[in-house]
Amino acid sequence: MKSKKTANKLQIDTVIKNLEKRNMKGYYCEDKEAACQLVLSMIEDKSTISWGGSVTLNTIGVKDRLAERDVKIIDPYTTTDRAESIERRRQGLLSDYFLMSANAITMDGELVNVDGTSNRVAGLCFGPKNVIVVAGANKLVKGLDDALARIKVNAAVPNSVRLKRNTPCAITGVCNDCLTKGCICCNIVTTRYSGIQDRIHVILVNEDLGY
Ligand code: SF4
Repeated sequence: MKSKKTANKLQIDTVIKNLEKRNMKGYYCEDKEAACQLVLSMIEDKSTISWGGSVTLNTIGVKDRLAERDVKIIDPYTTTDRAESIERRRQGLLSDYFLMSANAITMDGELVNVDGTSNRVAGLCFGPKNVIVVAGANKLVKGLDDALARIKVNAAVPNSVRLKRNTPCAITGVCNDCLTKGCICCNIVTTRYSGIQDRIHVILVNEDLGY
């Protein structure tokens, strides 16, 4: 276990160096509590905050902690009204801070994300002033081919099951590259360079978090 943590740390340090050449800023956190504290320290009071759907953000508890702060939160996921949820997703794209995880991060520092409604990848690409990505060491992969393989096996399938989607993978556990209404793989986005320096902050946590 100790060796795994040490190996994770070495890999995260490499990714942080490679994020820098891609105009993104990387951070190391030992565990989810440290990650939560770091996110909180990055966000000023009076800010507007939104987020994409993320098991990782739920797990580190940062959403509850932000709710105690003097900030404005636009949460698309606290309403069952689909039209209201879509409107909040639209408004979230003008936030000061947009929080999300990543489905895969290559050792060379590329972020790879798959999205259904696609507000999450939209916020990553453009709109919010700052993007804070929190990802566990389980999201690290060697290269882009491994990122897509990880997404199809370890990310999209469990997320389809979690979201109770009517997709082939939610029934069989296997992706068949569906073109169905419930598909959560509408956009697969690789972020290889940030056009705005240090807009994208990537917090890498030495634990397994999310899918
Ligand atoms: S079956 Fe469809 S929703 Fe499921 S992982 Fe494949 S493309 Fe995505």
